[in-house]
Amino acid sequence: MDKKKFSAGYFLIALVLAWLFAEYIYKPYSESKSEVTYSEFLKDLDDKNIDTVDIGDSRITYKLKEGVAANNENEAEERPIVDGVILGNFKRAKPDNVKSVVRLQDPLLIERLSGSDIKFGGVPPRNGLVDLIMGILLPMLPLIIIWYFIFRGMSGGGPGGIFSFGRSRARELQGEMTGVLFKDIGGVGEAEVELREIIDFLKDPKRFDKFGARLPRGVLLVGPPGTGKTLLAKATAGEAGVPFFFITGSSFVEMFVGVGAARVRDLFDQAKKKAPCIIFVDEIDAIGQSRMNVINNSEQENTLNQLLAEMDGFATNNGVVIMGATNRPEILDQALLRPGRFDRQIQVVLPTEEGREEILKIHTRALPLDPAIDLRSIAKVTPGFSGADLANIANEASLLAARRNAEKVTMNDFDLAIERVVAGLQRQTPLTPEVRKKVAFHESGHALVACYLPGSDPVHKVSIIPTTKGALGYTMQMPTEDQYLVSESELKNRMAVMLGGRAAELLIFNEASTGASNDLERATEIARRMVTEFGMSEILGPVKYASNGFKYLSGNSTENREDLGTNTFDTIDSEIKKLVTQAQENAFKILRDHEPVLQEVAGVLQSKEVINSEEIEAIVKKHNASENEAE
Ligand code: ATP
Repeated sequence: MDKKKFSAGYFLIALVLAWLFAEYIYKPYSESKSEVTYSEFLKDLDDKNIDTVDIGDSRITYKLKEGVAANNENEAEERPIVDGVILGNFKRAKPDNVKSVVRLQDPLLIERLSGSDIKFGGVPPRNGLVDLIMGILLPMLPLIIIWYFIFRGMSGGGPGGIFSFGRSRARELQGEMTGVLFKDIGGVGEAEVELREIIDFLKDPKRFDKFGARLPRGVLLVGPPGTGKTLLAKATAGEAGVPFFFITGSSFVEMFVGVGAARVRDLFDQAKKKAPCIIFVDEIDAIGQSRMNVINNSEQENTLNQLLAEMDGFATNNGVVIMGATNRPEILDQALLRPGRFDRQIQVVLPTEEGREEILKIHTRALPLDPAIDLRSIAKVTPGFSGADLANIANEASLLAARRNAEKVTMNDFDLAIERVVAGLQRQTPLTPEVRKKVAFHESGHALVACYLPGSDPVHKVSIIPTTKGALGYTMQMPTEDQYLVSESELKNRMAVMLGGRAAELLIFNEASTGASNDLERATEIARRMVTEFGMSEILGPVKYASNGFKYLSGNSTENREDLGTNTFDTIDSEIKKLVTQAQENAFKILRDHEPVLQEVAGVLQSKEVINSEEIEAIVKKHNASENEAE
């Protein structure tokens, strides 16, 4: 329902309610105020006080003569007045000269009236039908109101509420109004090249008709979260200057069977009227999930079938392009991916170093940057960050600068912003000295194993300030380059660094603490993937044991492999244990060999709370030199 109709509807309802109130509540109430008994009425009649009489079906209304009303007024004024309040009974001080009385079965009434000079007549009966309807409607009103609110909640509470069951929730925007162009997106060069063709088609569909070429109807953007898939779809509409229909897959899925399918139909109907245009279905996996995986969900199946049917029903080149986005292409129904439907897949991957620099440039365009800021160096230390992460870093940096009341955003703001995004905000609650000591050794353990193991990512900073992400301290390593392939030895080194904290606790305090649980979890995950996915176990050999998981999300496991024997599961477990135990032993050995360095780094940490890479390097070098001298 659009806004105008919506408020007009409410106005109408308010008007009806006001009339109902006036007619059925206020009027009877006000009438009842001048209610008299039948005997009083007869007395007024006998005393010749009455001017006119209206005889209704159930009551009689009569008007007193002018003088009579005035007499009553005088009578009221004679009552004592204290502090402005008229004492006595609660008769109104200035009574109305119109009275109302319940009509009795009085066969002599007309005779009495005829014998006087009173003007009298009947009152037209009320509309019986209206009375009947109101008799039913009024008691039901509270029920209707409760029903309306419950169903409004069920259907998502959107502006249309219950009245918009079958309507799609696609918001229509003009292409130009998306305001997004390719210059607003960084690091997606390849995807952009592929989308150019679609843009040319949308700009001039007839040109393609001439050659009888059939353009892809559906384009599926796949990639990890936050890489700019939605932004790319918007930019495609923006560049082509066509309307952009945006809807998320989950909003098709309703609790009422058939609603999703109706929404799909409605969306396509709307889009066809606006062609050329783009329909963008975000999280398409919510409806496009393989029917094999969906057990007994007829609503989802109906919706998917409707989507498939609509895509088939498109005349070639009718100017509507459907774009979908997902992080989980693996679970999509094959029927959705066949030629003629989403026949073009575009990978939107995590940005490279250059891409990250471009994205940072875009998101810092409006910021007053210190000239010393080197965006390339920020891009260098942020491998694995998505476009959304980088946008967040730029925003955090500007917030930090604003909090300092500074004129410019500095490199230090960016450093802190990266830390905030990686580790969370600093918590103000201080640690007790014993906990501080344990955390200092734990974090120094991570840092030193990383320093001594060749090929590990360099340590950037170590802190024992607790963070809002739940860490009591953290060791930040900054990879120096994007890693596309990781070797077995590098994976083993990563595990050793993760277990360095626990190894340090075992070395210094002779027992481990709960602080290493997250390290253990991550190390075990690496070991599990080494064994079940990468064929890095001699005993299990080059076989993939994990079920097909998600490429862009973590979540592979052997859980669904019913075909594996119990022995295989046991062997997988013992191989994982072997790898993790070896990693801990490696870390322990390194720390035991360099215990004085560990002591010194942990000591500095306890006094300063934070130590950076240069300070750690200086301590390591100093000890190396003294060891060499001793030899
Ligand atoms: P999801 O899969 O989680 O839906 P997505 O891939 O659709 O994520 P977007 O919603 O397009 O990601 O991106 C989120 C935000 O991140 C954007 O609004 C934008 O600010 C920023 N962003 C992501 N990628 C880029 C990019 N390549 N260039 C510029 N900004 C980007």
